[in-house]
Amino acid sequence: MNDKTIPITGGCCCGDVRHEATGQSVLVEFCHCQSCRHAVGAPLMAWAAFRRSEFAITAGDVTAYESSPGLERTFCGRCGTSLTLADDRFPDDIYVSVSSFDDAEKLPPEFHIWRSRRLSWLETSDTLPRYAQFRADGIVEEQPGRS
Ligand SMILES: [Zn+2]
Ligand SMILES: [Zn+2]
Repeated sequence: MNDKTIPITGGCCCGDVRHEATGQSVLVEFCHCQSCRHAVGAPLMAWAAFRRSEFAITAGDVTAYESSPGLERTFCGRCGTSLTLADDRFPDDIYVSVSSFDDAEKLPPEFHIWRSRRLSWLETSDTLPRYAQFRADGIVEEQPGRS
């Protein structure tokens, strides 16, 4: 990713909430975990992590809730678009819904996480690295080959 990609703006479906990332993404991932599935209502989720100091809600207000201990999710209280995920284990980062950006083409995912929770009927044809899970210390554990 180069500097032409930033700042990158986005927001929710109804337009009440707008956001902006002024720094480059730390990582972009597909997450297959059940918590994300339930939270966003989709079979998988794409997240882009940014430094919190380089991301801001620039218009509107988000609604926040804790989906599991240490995980806070936000969404637009009017239209329901999932917007961010904050993980206490990574206090410097904020995960932002890739699909909420105006140009999600700028944020191609780099790997799959939580493949161990993947829906069996969901398979993608990309050749990105596939990881089974996060360990408690936050280190990604690789699952050899495709599952
Ligand atoms: Zn909205
Ligand atoms: Zn997830």
